[in-house]
Amino acid sequence: MIELASESIDVLCGKCGLRHNILRKDYVKPTLEYFLRSMGDEIEYIWHFRLDCPSCKNLNTFDIFAYEYPPGYMNWKDHTNYTGSIRMSKIKFSGDIDLGDDNNEGNEDE
Ligand SMILES: [Zn+2]
Repeated sequence: MIELASESIDVLCGKCGLRHNILRKDYVKPTLEYFLRSMGDEIEYIWHFRLDCPSCKNLNTFDIFAYEYPPGYMNWKDHTNYTGSIRMSKIKFSGDIDLGDDNNEGNEDE
């Protein structure tokens, strides 16, 4: 099981550029999809975020993806900015998974 582990996610409004902070308690639940592979299921996690900008009323949407395969290992992560903008390097994941080199990516302490 992969989870978003960052305490918060910074989002820049795609219209006015205002910076928003989505707290962990407000994270959406991921949708899961299973694909049968030779070494078991590959699991695709997608977190669909929607955020109304309080300043300009723009609806910011972005998705975060993670792929678990073989079971217990995160082998890919990605995101799509539709109207909002996030920095993927700031996003941390957790779970009973091997984070590998991603462990050293980014730095939450600024
Ligand atoms: Zn805005």
